[in-house]
Parts: sequence; C-alpha cells; structure tokens
Amino acid sequence: MRARRTRDNERVTSAPPLELPGWRHTYSGKVRDLYVPADTAEGAPPAHLLVVASDRVSAFDHVLSPGIPDKGVLLTTLSLWWFDQLAGGDGGRSIPNHLVPDHALAGDDAVTLIPDAVQGRAMLVRSLDMQPIECVVRGYLTGSGWAEYRAEGTVCGIPLPEGLHDGDRLPEPLYTPAFKAPMGEHDENITFERSVEIVGAETAAALRDLSLAIYRRASATAEAHGLILADTKFEFGFDADGVLTLADEVLTSDSSRYWDADAWRTGTTPAERMASFDKQIVRNWLAENWDKQGEPPALPDEIVERTRDRYAELLRLLTA
Ligand code: ATP
Ligand code: MG
Repeated sequence: MRARRTRDNERVTSAPPLELPGWRHTYSGKVRDLYVPADTAEGAPPAHLLVVASDRVSAFDHVLSPGIPDKGVLLTTLSLWWFDQLAGGDGGRSIPNHLVPDHALAGDDAVTLIPDAVQGRAMLVRSLDMQPIECVVRGYLTGSGWAEYRAEGTVCGIPLPEGLHDGDRLPEPLYTPAFKAPMGEHDENITFERSVEIVGAETAAALRDLSLAIYRRASATAEAHGLILADTKFEFGFDADGVLTLADEVLTSDSSRYWDADAWRTGTTPAERMASFDKQIVRNWLAENWDKQGEPPALPDEIVERTRDRYAELLRLLTA
C-alpha cells in the first residue's frame, strides 16, 4: 500500500495504479485511473485515453475501504450499455459519446488494445476538452436537494412548490449544475447564470439542454425496467471537431440514484420508498456510523455485499 494524491489532493491509501503494457498512468480520480499511450510525448495531447474503473468506492468525498468486489466491471458494463442505448436512434436523437469508434462490449480491435489485466473494466476513449461543469439533473427530491428544500424551499436556489416530501417526484426535472473544482477544492453547486460565466452562454445552454434530454430519455428506459432514475450527473467535453460529447461514466449506480419503482409507489416510509440500487446504502451506513471527522471507518462485510448485490441487480434489471 502507498499513499498518493487525487486531483482533490486527498490521500488515497489503496494499491498503486497497475502497470499496463503500452500505457502510461497519468491521473487517478477517486474511482478511476487514467492512462495515455506510452509513446505519447510529455505535454502532447494523447491520441486516446484508457479509463480504468477500479473497485474503489467513495462517499462524502472520501475513498473508503474495502472496495466493492466487481464494481469496476459492473460500472463499466453499465456505462457501455447506456452509451449504446443513447447512441441508437430509437426515436430520440443520437447522443455522441467519447468511446473510440467501434468500441464494443467484446470482440473487436478496440478491445484488443485494452490490456488483459483490466478487460471488462476499461474504456478506450477519445481525449476530450472537458468542460468543468458537473451536469446534474434531478427528477425527484432527496439527498442534499431535500435538505435545502426543507430549510429554504428551494433546490440549488430554484424555488419549488410547498408540501413536497423526501423522495417526491419534482414537477419538472431540474438542471442543477456544479462547478468541477480544480485540484485541492471541492465541487460546488452553482446557478445556471454562473455556468454561463464559466463556459459561455452557448455551451452552458447546450450542456443544460443535452443533460435534460438524456435524463428524460434514460428515465423512460429505466421506467420500462421497473426503475426510477431519481437523479444523475453527466460530464461532457468537446471533441477535435468541436462536437459536444458525453464523457466519463454515464448513468451508473455511482453517478445516479436508482429506486425500485414498485417500492416507491407502495412504500410508506422514506426508506421503503427509496429502495436504492446505488451508493446510498454506503452513504446511509456512513452517516449513521461516522461523525465525518478524520478517517472514515472500514465498511462492514454486510454493507459491501449488499452494495455489490444491488449494483449487480441494477445491471440485470436494466439489461435483461
Ligand atoms: P475527480 O476527478 O475530482 O477526482 P472523480 O473522483 O469523479 O473526480 P474519476 O471519475 O475517478 O474522478 O476519474 C475520471 C476522470 O476522467 C474525471 O476527472 C473525468 O472528468 C475524466 N474524463 C472522463 N472522460 C474523459 C475524456 N473522454 N477525456 C478526458 N477526460 C475524461
Ligand atoms: Mg467521476
């Protein structure tokens, strides 16, 4: 074990990134490790990137231990499935994504460039000019949105009708951007107007419109599988041709809240209504067992197993 730093300058005491033949490690986020082709000149734009999802799990901005077995594979499989769904026509517009052309779940040239050690949990992507905005869309009221609504009657400053409860569906999906802070700082919720100052009016509007369009389409798909997509977060970047392109992970149980639709309709308590297929299991346990001072405690086996089961179940429900 050794300590290294993420972009947020936090200590990460997990195994060092793997050495991968043909690739050079350049960055580790809380969950993913990024590599460029080993022959990329220092400072030159890489031809493409290898994004490797680990089994690390983070909550409240801390990487926890232990990881969730198979999480990297589950999240990557889910992202690839969603990229494919969103790229397909099926009545909606085709959403461009960062995968190299011909990336598939298995059996093509792109996949042969992915080293064996990380097969199933790596994506070969085009290196984009990433926009520093986390594009959050909320269709339901919960989490930090619920806390703000209870205190102020607003979510990210947007006024909402009175009388809503934790877990309620919002009258309209809300776009609530956050600024993806540079190294050493935390992401912060911002107004749409602030996002205009950061990326310009045209890009800010495109990020909003694309995010809402993807959310609507994905939540219809989720509903057809008995799931509610309560909220989610997208990241976008511009490709070499200036096309705004969906990047990072997409609609996974790390970046989204998914609930069981039947339980939401029939449940009487918030816990019953929001039976989650996402990281909420981990957040809830931590909130009850840690005062957010110092290092978080190790996750018990039962929480690790339950999280893994729910992540796997989400993938099964969506793709079956
Ligand atoms: P942080 O980067 O703040 O640590 P994180 O913990 O969410 O956030 P990860 O998700 O682990 O980070 O790492 C993935 C990183 O790769 C993110 O910084 C993301 O913006 C970046 N990224 C994803 N897709 C692309 C792409 N196609 N081109 C360039 N960068 C990308
Ligand atoms: Mg991320």
